[in-house]
Amino acid sequence: MYVTTLHCYHCNANYPLTHRGSCPACATTGEETALNETLGVQYDLTAIKRQLDREELARRPPGLWRYRELLPIVDPAFRIDLGAGGTRLVPLTRIPEAVAGNRLLMKVEGSNPSGSFKDRPIGVAASVALEQGARGLACLTSGNIGSAMAAIAAKADVSSLVLLLGAAGLADSGAAVNVEKYVQISAYGAEVVTPIGNLGQLYALADRVEAELGWSFMHNVQAYQTDGDKTTAFEICEQLGWRAPAAVFVPTGTGTNLFGLWQGFVLFKELGFIDTLPRMFAVQPVGAASLVAAWEAHQAIPAVLERTEPNLAPPISHRVSGYHAYKAMQESGGGAVAVSDAEMLTALKDLAAYEGIYAETASAAALAGIRRALALGLLSSEETHEGGIVGILTSSGLKNSLALSQVFSPPPKIEGTWETLRSFIESRKET
Ligand SMILES: [Zn+2]
Repeated sequence: MYVTTLHCYHCNANYPLTHRGSCPACATTGEETALNETLGVQYDLTAIKRQLDREELARRPPGLWRYRELLPIVDPAFRIDLGAGGTRLVPLTRIPEAVAGNRLLMKVEGSNPSGSFKDRPIGVAASVALEQGARGLACLTSGNIGSAMAAIAAKADVSSLVLLLGAAGLADSGAAVNVEKYVQISAYGAEVVTPIGNLGQLYALADRVEAELGWSFMHNVQAYQTDGDKTTAFEICEQLGWRAPAAVFVPTGTGTNLFGLWQGFVLFKELGFIDTLPRMFAVQPVGAASLVAAWEAHQAIPAVLERTEPNLAPPISHRVSGYHAYKAMQESGGGAVAVSDAEMLTALKDLAAYEGIYAETASAAALAGIRRALALGLLSSEETHEGGIVGILTSSGLKNSLALSQVFSPPPKIEGTWETLRSFIESRKET
């Protein structure tokens, strides 16, 4: 057992591994604050160094549990394995920026079992919850967390409840829930409801679910979710030949995935597995870019936005982002950029049409963010040409195809003759 405590990155307090929720010294229950997700999982590095080296890791099969000493589940029986992790790191070759000589690589997280990167954080957090005795699993989500959790619950043979919102962190917004996501969650056998109430009320409801039913609410094991996100960073380093890239661009709402990735790079460096650390960049949608606003105002504790503007990236549309993400950006010398719907759509189409990768619109924000950073001169030529820039494509395009049916017109009906088809193809060539 290498896991030791939960540590608050804001006030440096330590808590036992069974502690639930946020740091009580920093965050007030029920309030939306940038200090909600400051807890991280600590490990006995000296003991790990004795047990684990790069050669041992390289011998193991790919996936989340390849890094078992660096994850908080103690009993192997609770390492629920749906095949999460082990995703491809794809060098872009055809998009114009790649042709111009930039070294751009995409981590294709949409190929995880439930179609998004959430199979990592939820794979770890749900496993911890069950190991600590939870009798069921519950979460509040715009969809991807719900799919990942419902799949785990199915495999572990426990009940699950998904409180499904139209956009992550936007209770009471009235936004319609994503059809592909509620269908997928329902197929796994979870109960799905769309609760009405503000976020504070819904978190209080979550605590009640825990108290009354003995189920674990994923938000209350957030530190373990962040810990699962580390594995993306581990894989990137291994895939680059035990090196970190120059910079990593993460589509993000509250910033938890970005913070988890940063913890992963830092841990690998502390273990001596890599020599350098990457710059961490947050990418958020215009109109829901609290980290970008905080970054520009040098405000380590990002202010809660009064409202967010509707956009094509509900999974990363939050009113509140985290101190933890700001800290990762600051420590790494990174930054934050905001991208428009049009920029995300162009990135989505380019990834698909040039590279054969179909990502969810919120994921394509990674490439849109890299483009924005290139345009703003935030990346040096050495970084873009030698060190390499990694974008995290967080989820599969199949997660929100319906929302894009307004962007791509339905196929025209034509007569099934060669003459008609030939003239159709020729007319397309002309456009
Ligand atoms: Zn604290």
